[in-house]
Amino acid sequence: MTTGVAVQKRHMLYEGKAKQVFATDNPELVIFYFKDDATAFNAKKRGSIEGKGVINNRVSELFFTLLEKAGVRTHFVKRLSEREMLCRKLEIIPVEAVVRNIVAGSMAKRLGRAEGEVLPRPVVEWYYKSDPLDDPLINDDHAQVFGWASAEELAKMRALTLKINDTLRAYLDSRGITLVDAKFEFGRFNGDILVGDEICPDTCRFWDKATGEKLDKDRFRRDLGGVEDAYQEVLKRVEQ
Ligand code: UDP
Repeated sequence: MTTGVAVQKRHMLYEGKAKQVFATDNPELVIFYFKDDATAFNAKKRGSIEGKGVINNRVSELFFTLLEKAGVRTHFVKRLSEREMLCRKLEIIPVEAVVRNIVAGSMAKRLGRAEGEVLPRPVVEWYYKSDPLDDPLINDDHAQVFGWASAEELAKMRALTLKINDTLRAYLDSRGITLVDAKFEFGRFNGDILVGDEICPDTCRFWDKATGEKLDKDRFRRDLGGVEDAYQEVLKRVEQ
């Protein structure tokens, strides 16, 4: 395994809204750098959440470690520093998976349902990863005919999404957090499909189980205040 070996950080491959990705001297590994920058509504709203990068790096580490223990393969290798994570380099599949346990956000708006409605079972949705198109909702046929993912890959992604949801949901529930919904990204790696990106309060909705208080990026999206405190609270509970 590569974990014991020092890895050299090389040039930046990509800069996203919340992260930078760097090449390393090992072609199979990349380094993620987590920034404090925050965007919402397809980058129409921009800001910064102090300490967010450090928290998202640590929360993602804890979740990826939990998932690996549950038998889900992830891109996570190790956390290198407060803001850096060593990851396997995936060929990212341009189809994002969203899993929902409770109606919120775009589902409430699109389907005219009340935010907070508990779904009888988890619902999986696909979104095409495209900034110019605002990540549109798609179905299996779209993903297949445009060559974004095969039927086999979609089936595997769906099963993984449901397993990740079950695993995170139980873990969070025992720490007083309701997992409302979450977004996962997947990528190809040596013939397998691994979970990539990050799993954190930027990419999930977390509600306090007792009070219903929002402990995620909706505090930033909706100008609710207390954003940093909410992220800190999630880390504190997830670390328990
Ligand atoms: N999400 C994300 N990245 C995106 C869009 C959504 O991580 O580009 C997450 C979001 O944080 C939430 C879930 O996916 O946990 C469902 O988001 P929704 O479709 O309701 O979109 P939004 O409310 O962001 O418009």
